[in-house]
Amino acid sequence: MRKAVNDINRCVACGVCAGECPREAISIYKGCYAVIDTAKCVGCGICQRACPAGSVKVEEV
Ligand code: SF4
Ligand code: SF4
Repeated sequence: MRKAVNDINRCVACGVCAGECPREAISIYKGCYAVIDTAKCVGCGICQRACPAGSVKVEEV
């Protein structure tokens, strides 16, 4: 099963991924970093392609 995983040390909390996710699986935690709701994520990879910081990646989990 593939899910998006965010490296919070690289994330700049821009919110681009949250805006692009078709499942509304991403939220920005206290303006600091993106959090993925793995129950909603379908591993489509849209967030990975959209992230300007290269911090969110779809991985086999
Ligand atoms: S992989 Fe797709 S469904 Fe999962 S968080 Fe990224 S954009 Fe949303
Ligand atoms: S697009 Fe990338 S840098 Fe921006 S909030 Fe999402 S994971 Fe963080």
